[in-house]
Amino acid sequence: MNYISTRGFDNTGVSSAMAIKKGLAEDGGLYMPESIPEIDLDYIRSLSSLSYPERAAKVLSLFLTDYSEEELLEDARGAYAEDKFIPSAAPITALDGGRYMLELWHGPTSAFKDMALQIMPRLFVRALRKCGEEREALILVATSGDTGKAALEGYKNIEGTRIKVFYPIDGVSSVQKRQMQSQEGDNVSVVGIVGNFDDAQNGVKKIFSDADFAKKLDRGGVFLSSANSINWGRLVPQIVYYISAYCDLYARGVIELGDKLDVCVPTGNFGNIFAGYVAKLMGLPIGKMVCASNKNNVLTDFFKTGEYDRNRKFHATMSPSMDILISSNLERLIFVTLGAEKCAEYMAALARDGKYKLKKEELAKINETFVGYYTDEEECMACVKRTYENVKQLIDTHTSVAVSAAERYMKDAKSKTPMLVVSTASPYKFAADVYRSLKDERPESDLEAPAMLEELTGVKMPEPLRRVLTKEPIHLDVIRKDDMPHAVLEFALSTIK
Ligand SMILES: *Cc1c(COP(=O)(O)O)cnc(C)c1O
Repeated sequence: MNYISTRGFDNTGVSSAMAIKKGLAEDGGLYMPESIPEIDLDYIRSLSSLSYPERAAKVLSLFLTDYSEEELLEDARGAYAEDKFIPSAAPITALDGGRYMLELWHGPTSAFKDMALQIMPRLFVRALRKCGEEREALILVATSGDTGKAALEGYKNIEGTRIKVFYPIDGVSSVQKRQMQSQEGDNVSVVGIVGNFDDAQNGVKKIFSDADFAKKLDRGGVFLSSANSINWGRLVPQIVYYISAYCDLYARGVIELGDKLDVCVPTGNFGNIFAGYVAKLMGLPIGKMVCASNKNNVLTDFFKTGEYDRNRKFHATMSPSMDILISSNLERLIFVTLGAEKCAEYMAALARDGKYKLKKEELAKINETFVGYYTDEEECMACVKRTYENVKQLIDTHTSVAVSAAERYMKDAKSKTPMLVVSTASPYKFAADVYRSLKDERPESDLEAPAMLEELTGVKMPEPLRRVLTKEPIHLDVIRKDDMPHAVLEFALSTIK
């Protein structure tokens, strides 16, 4: 299967290995498969008796046709091993009112990004070999917190790669900051940026599109690639857990094969929810998709009015991984529903004016599946509290945004369809705000918060997080965004070890 650009100017088609190696298409667009493979109910039934790694290998093989199923199974088994995802990769727990939670945060960094970033480096290294690439890959990441740590854990000490992560110095939680600043590995670099996530992301995008910069790196035997969710290698592993969740709900007798399942996803860059949409396009019986945002509700407005307008105030919220004004993967939704020509036109408008507006019938097409809800800070905290009190589930602030959205959507739509709410982080990763939601008082310090939350609730903190809290921070550099290219060059051409 070949991959083409969402903007249509670079449409010769590349292999999946090449799409994963390159990250972005030459014309600035994102890679998408030429066509979406189809699955039916027999296929879903056949997956339901398999383990998560086996399900992953099967689903990935439909998209990554230049990888063998043995390669994919080896990578999936390595990535989703039982000592990495404890107790398992994507377990489901029950809320009330026909809502279920898909917990995607049992991996090494306690956030859902591990689901993609534990397997992507393995797919990436194979991609380099398949493409006959001999240069070293420099993975460049802009993060609002969770991607950075998950990418660092995924790529640390992977031969033939080095990784540099930029994060907004005041835009991540203390625990996230400690996770990144204490990162081990010989091929890693972590730098804080004065600014917000979009500043970091735009800085990285600029570096990616600078041809002279690429030449300089090339002379040093280095090329750039991304681990952000714009890379297909990040997105494709996320399709798996939607199919897997459907299998598990079927196996538990919650749904019959073919029954509709709605989903609600706490959304930032639109990667996670878009992966669910691909599963739906494949034939998984997903009904509505609720796009849950925090106070940065650009997507809520988009699904309501058809206008995407990033010219607005940026809010730093207690769900920082969703503090985003440009949701890069929305481009993929525009592409699959409206085509490359429209997509290129709207993305050009977004770059030029910071906004674009869909026609009425275009929005109607998107609204067949998508509806947007947002949750403000007060409701986010209230929902953490009542979810703990009513159903004894301790949820993090990102998940809370979605739990609340799902509740309101089901009420507004008078829906009786089972709802899968995607839970994206351990409550311990955002322990200070979770604690504050429950107790109405601030913990003594953000870094003390996980221990205090554990004492308050008796719910056990994930072990990897416990270990990080005792580690010394070692990556303490903070720079201005204008200095990013220089910092990248210096790291790219330095000698490792
Ligand atoms: C990254 C992240 C999100 C947003 O996911 P997108 O794929 O960017 O929409 C939500 N919650 C948490 C905890 C995250 O780390």
